[in-house]
Amino acid sequence: MAPHAIIVGAGLAGPLLAILLARGGHRVDLVERRPDPRSAAHDGGRSINLGMSARAIAALREVGLWQEARRLSVPMRGRMVHAGGRPAFYPYGGDPSQILHSIRRDTLVRLLVEHAEKQPGVRLRFETRCVSVDRDAAAVTLEDGTTLRAGFVVGADGASSLVRTAMQRGLPAGFSREYLEWGYKEVTIRATPGGEPAVPLEALHIWPGERGLGVAHPNLDNSLTCTLFLPREEPPDPVSAAFPHLATLVPDLDEQASAAPMSHLTTVRTAPWRHRDTTVLVGDAAHAVYPFYGQGMNASFEDCLVLDRMLARHPGDREAAFAAYERARKPHTDVLAELSERNFLELRDGMRSPLALARKRLDLLLHKTFPGTWVPLYTLVSHTTVPYGEALRRARRQDRLAAALAAAGAGLAAAGLLAARRTGRTTR
Ligand SMILES: Cc1cc2nc3c(=O)[nH]c(=O)nc-3n(C[C@H](O)[C@H](O)[C@H](O)COP(=O)(O)OP(=O)(O)OC[C@H]3O[C@@H](n4cnc5c(N)ncnc54)[C@H](O)[C@@H]3O)c2cc1C
Repeated sequence: MAPHAIIVGAGLAGPLLAILLARGGHRVDLVERRPDPRSAAHDGGRSINLGMSARAIAALREVGLWQEARRLSVPMRGRMVHAGGRPAFYPYGGDPSQILHSIRRDTLVRLLVEHAEKQPGVRLRFETRCVSVDRDAAAVTLEDGTTLRAGFVVGADGASSLVRTAMQRGLPAGFSREYLEWGYKEVTIRATPGGEPAVPLEALHIWPGERGLGVAHPNLDNSLTCTLFLPREEPPDPVSAAFPHLATLVPDLDEQASAAPMSHLTTVRTAPWRHRDTTVLVGDAAHAVYPFYGQGMNASFEDCLVLDRMLARHPGDREAAFAAYERARKPHTDVLAELSERNFLELRDGMRSPLALARKRLDLLLHKTFPGTWVPLYTLVSHTTVPYGEALRRARRQDRLAAALAAAGAGLAAAGLLAARRTGRTTR
C-alpha cells in the first residue's frame, strides 16, 4: 500500500494530483479552505477563464478528462489584435490543430474535483483551512484544531503557500516574490441583444496599449471575459479612455471596471521545493508566473505528471523521487518565469510594432515551409510539451540563424547593388 498523502489546496493542481496519486494506490486527503466548487457558495475565484494548451491537454488526457474538458471549452485558433484600424488575425500555428482552448476556471475545477472524488481512497475536505504544517512529521493542523498525519504533505496551495513557508522556515532556502507594476480587473463582453458574440468567438482578442492591455477569452454562452491589465499607480480614469474600441463593444465598460477589484500579478521563485521525504510543492506554490504566456496552469499540471512519474520510478525512496522531480522541473519553470515577464512587453508593445508583427509573420511562414525544422518559440511553448528551457534554447538558435540569414541577405543585396553600379558605370 502506497503511503497516505495530504494535499493542501484544491485549486487546479491539487485535484489533478489527487487523481494521479490515487491511481498509484495512495490514500489522499485533499484539504481546501474554500467551499466546494459544486456548491452555490463557491465564488469562482480569481481569473475567470484559462487557456488550455498542449501541456494541460496532455495531463487531462492522462487522467481521461480531456474529451470532457474540450467539450466544455471554446477553441481559439489565433490572436485577433485590435490596434486601431481593422483587427488583424494571427493564427497560432501553421497546423490547424495548433489551437488553445478557453475554459472557465470554475468549470475545470469542478470537473477535476468530481473525478477526484470518484477515486477510491480520496477524501475531499472543503471549507477546511490548513493553519500549520509540521514538515518533519508530515502533519497538518486544520482550523478546527484537528491534526492529520500522513506519509507526506503536498503544498498545492498557490502563490502565497503556507506549506512552503512552514517547509522552509529556519532552513537555508531561496525565495523571491516580485509584483508587476500592473494589476488586472475582469469585465464581461456580453453577447449582442440578438445573442451573437460581439467579436468573432474563436480567437483570443487583444487590445494593446501603453496605458492598458485588454485580453479577452471566449465563453460557451457567446460572451467573452476580458482581463484589463492596468498600471496600478494612476490607472486610466475613466478606463474607457485607454480602450476606445472596447468601449464600443461594452457600453458599461467604466461601470464594470470600477466595480471590479484590482488584483495583483506576482512571480514567485523559490528553492528547495521539498523537504526530506515528507513535504513537496507543486504549481504556483513552487513557481507562480505572470499570466502573459498563459502557462501557469499548464506548467502546474505538468508538475503533477512529473511528480507522479518520479514516485513510480523510485518506489520506496520518496526523497529520491522528490529530488528527481525538482531537478526535472525547476530549471524549466525558471525559464517560464522569464518568458512570462517578457511576454508582457510583447503583448503590450509588440502587438503595436509593425516590425515585431512582421517578425511574427515571418516565423509562421518559415514554420509552414519547414515545419519540422523551424518552430517559433510560442509554438514550442504552447503547442508542444518540449521542456521550456529546451524550447528557449531552440528558439535562440533559430534567432541566430534568422539574423545570419538577414545579414547574408543584406550582404548579397549590397553586393548586387555594387555590381549594378559598376555595370552602370562601364556601360554609360
Ligand atoms: C489573470 C490570470 C490569468 C491566467 N490565465 C492562465 C491561462 O490562460 N493559462 C494558464 O495555464 N494559466 C493561467 N493562469 C495561471 C493559473 O491561474 C495558475 O498557474 C494556477 O491557478 C495554479 O494552480 P495551483 O493549483 O497551483 O494554485 P491555485 O489555483 O492558486 O490553487 C491554490 C488553492 O489552494 C487553496 N489554499 C490556499 N491556502 C490554503 C490553506 N491554508 N488551506 C487550504 N487551502 C488553501 C486556495 O483556496 C486555492 O484553491 C492565469 C492566472 C491569472 C492571475
